[in-house]
Amino acid sequence: MSESIKGFCLHGRERIIPSSGVSVISNTSVVDMEIPELKEGEILAKPIYTGICGSDNSACLGKPNFTWVERPRVIGHECSAEVLELGPGDHGGLKVGDVFTPVAQLGCRREDCPACTVGKWNLCPRKTILGFHRDGGFGQRMVLESDRAVPFIEGLTHKQGALVEPLSVACNAIYNKCDIKPGMDVVVTGCGIIGLMCAELARASGARVAVTGIEHDRQVRLKAAKERGFITLVVSESQTLQTYLEDGVIDDNGVRFGSNGKVDLLIECTGVPQVLGQAGAVIKPNGDICVVATYPGPVEFDATNLTRSSHNMRGVMGSSKDDFVVAQKLLVQEVFPAEHYVNMYQFDDIGQAFEDSIKANNVKAVVKMN
Ligand SMILES: [Zn+2]
Ligand SMILES: [Zn+2]
Repeated sequence: MSESIKGFCLHGRERIIPSSGVSVISNTSVVDMEIPELKEGEILAKPIYTGICGSDNSACLGKPNFTWVERPRVIGHECSAEVLELGPGDHGGLKVGDVFTPVAQLGCRREDCPACTVGKWNLCPRKTILGFHRDGGFGQRMVLESDRAVPFIEGLTHKQGALVEPLSVACNAIYNKCDIKPGMDVVVTGCGIIGLMCAELARASGARVAVTGIEHDRQVRLKAAKERGFITLVVSESQTLQTYLEDGVIDDNGVRFGSNGKVDLLIECTGVPQVLGQAGAVIKPNGDICVVATYPGPVEFDATNLTRSSHNMRGVMGSSKDDFVVAQKLLVQEVFPAEHYVNMYQFDDIGQAFEDSIKANNVKAVVKMN
């Protein structure tokens, strides 16, 4: 009797507006999977825990910045997995039974690629993303290139392993793109998991950190941030980040956050064009804006203010293997406290996990895959 292998599959490309009453998971379904034969350099692996990414949600909703995702596709790129079988070819030191996290972004690995030759697959123009260009971690089995596998370091749990990929993105942002010094005031706009991870790492680097969200985030995501001691701000059209800072935000010790309504650094994790567009208004002269999100269209902003305020705006694309290693260490050392932010689901409830994530009714959904 052959066992049935299931996967959570994206097949539709309808644009779904979450408040419209249409099921937010109507572009997806659980399907029976066939396991392709292993090609040179490929392995068969069993996902153990897989996390739902904001990009997975965006693809499920058919957002315009995710129309390039191939369909049908078993999605998922944030997982811990175990090697079941090695295909033909060389797999480095990787063995059957090893537990690893796959890097999401695989470069073309050509000898003339300026990104791949320096190990920055995330910057390769021909990169392919696990779960978007080939079936990924929301299958009960996955076939992938063994080059992607970053073996677990000592002490990392299977559950924590599902957070390595998103945390690696926050590591790339904080350690490679932001020069955070103790005493700096930092605003993270957006309280999705990448925002919360950036907030944790920024504070661990010595910054005082405020996190923004919308009214809907008050009960779950901002609550989780508040419990961790962050300043939390519920923003709206009438009460913007700028008005909060100008009116004066006070931290738990009664000390004013920012000065003259300005902070040192803003890390943009919402993907809302207006939020990035208005960021310059709250940054000190010579301060920084670090852009982690992507946007459904062009963003309008005051470029003259950027020049006159001598602001530095930087983008962050994904992460590379080096960042995965750093992320693993931070999880083992509990610099990022995974338990505080994770909501666990069984594979049988995967539809619910996606619904809750898309509606922002959880902080970080992680699905136990077997
Ligand atoms: Zn992701
Ligand atoms: Zn390349």
